Amino acid sequence: MSEIHRIKCGNGNCYIIENGVDGILVDTGKKEFVNRVLEACRQYHVKLIVLTHAHFDHAENAAQISNALGIPIGMSEKDCNLIQSNANQGLSAETFLGKIVLSVSLKDFSVRTLEKFKPDIFLKDGDSLSGYGVNASIIALPGHTDGSIGIDVENKGFIVGDALMNMFYPTVSMLFHNKSEMLDSAGKISRLGNRTIYFGHGKPVRNKQWVKQRTVRSTH
Ligand SMILES: [Zn+2]
Repeated sequence: MSEIHRIKCGNGNCYIIENGVDGILVDTGKKEFVNRVLEACRQYHVKLIVLTHAHFDHAENAAQISNALGIPIGMSEKDCNLIQSNANQGLSAETFLGKIVLSVSLKDFSVRTLEKFKPDIFLKDGDSLSGYGVNASIIALPGHTDGSIGIDVENKGFIVGDALMNMFYPTVSMLFHNKSEMLDSAGKISRLGNRTIYFGHGKPVRNKQWVKQRTVRSTH
């Protein structure tokens, strides 16, 4: 039995998935929260860092935590260009609130630089994390970034990174690098069925239909 613990880091979240023996850290938070996250990692014997994607608010502490605990970092190879600069995958927004979040994010991207690191493990769709003692698997969720991934924990909890957001209300991602891929990924999450959804931003909710289905016209 694995449990998912939410570590609040300002307006963002990291998570620890643990089974009472070993744990995995999912995302690492912004610099100012590094000690809080490190402390939690020690408490749950974290053996691996998984990054849902390489935006700074998820990856900024990856290098420091990896070095401090001597543990590997796993992420998608498709987000490696974001380690150089978060500006390397352009972002768009369509909603009013999304545009506000986008302008704040772009300002941050220009001043925040990630402490450079080389991922030890490239994670891709279907990979299992059972080698790290946790019954969880990786699901590719491209769109917010090319290399966005989710972590499905025992078919009960699903950590989505920023593939969905709950900053103001639960919704498909307000920021996206590729809109049609982002919508496809949101549909994929809905089809997982009965899950608790754990966001990179905001409180968990039950899984639901995230993308409006096209109405089928009646023929009579
Ligand atoms: Zn992001």
